[in-house]
Amino acid sequence: MSASESQHSLPKNLFPHHTPAAASSSTEESKDANGMTKLPNGVILDKDGKPCRLCTSAASWRNLTKQAKTQTAASTATATAAATTTTAPKPTPDSTPLPQSRDDCPPDVEALGRSTWTFLHSLTASYPVKATQEQQGEMRTFLKIFSRLYPCWVCADDFRTWMAEPNGRNEPRLAGRADFGTWMCEAHNEVNRKLGKKEFDCRLWEERWRTGWKDGRCD
Ligand SMILES: Cc1cc2nc3c(=O)[nH]c(=O)nc-3n(C[C@H](O)[C@H](O)[C@H](O)COP(=O)(O)OP(=O)(O)OC[C@H]3O[C@@H](n4cnc5c(N)ncnc54)[C@H](O)[C@@H]3O)c2cc1C
Repeated sequence: MSASESQHSLPKNLFPHHTPAAASSSTEESKDANGMTKLPNGVILDKDGKPCRLCTSAASWRNLTKQAKTQTAASTATATAAATTTTAPKPTPDSTPLPQSRDDCPPDVEALGRSTWTFLHSLTASYPVKATQEQQGEMRTFLKIFSRLYPCWVCADDFRTWMAEPNGRNEPRLAGRADFGTWMCEAHNEVNRKLGKKEFDCRLWEERWRTGWKDGRCD
């Protein structure tokens, strides 16, 4: 399904100030501390100016769709009132189950992130103890492509920028499992810091993602 199809239930006038490809030009939008293009309600926009579900938290997305439903109900009520001159019914309270309380709804930025970190750290856990030049080259190529294609585009942009730090200190370290696992942990910590989360102790990455904890709770 295309991005535009996935937005089909949102009224066209929800973002009247948007023109495609001008997502960051509106005065109602702001770049947050992380440089993300955000609407005041926390919704992140796609590059075409439409709300980006994969870049937005479930709570903000819910507010957006609630707002859209209210607007649709209000305009339907107005149209009905104009046609029949009877009193417009009040919109009924929304009893739809919360999307994130189900496991068959599209992911938000957090669910996508959790699944992706599981994949990325597992990739480091299964990386050779000492990687050949070919294995290192393949992984470098993967990370380059990953950082361009990750579906939360603002996350991808920041990840790419971090990796390309001019002094080269954040370049992937791919000589072997220990280096790569620690590098991935540092990459994850960079996002943790950005989001105001606690940093993870990178000395423990292998217990978390490969061997299980020393106390045996994962055995
Ligand atoms: C490349 C990438 C970029 C992202 N950028 C953004 C962004 O810009 N904005 C945004 O809102 N979200 C972003 N996310 C999503 C974000 O990182 C989280 O996944 C999301 O907020 C859910 O967080 P969480 O607290 O459930 O745990 P997560 O951060 O998803 O972590 C999952 C588990 O990994 C373990 N863990 C935590 N830190 C580390 C570490 N440093 N090393 C090893 N293991 C660790 C913990 O056990 C944790 O429970 C990004 C995700 C990825 C993969």
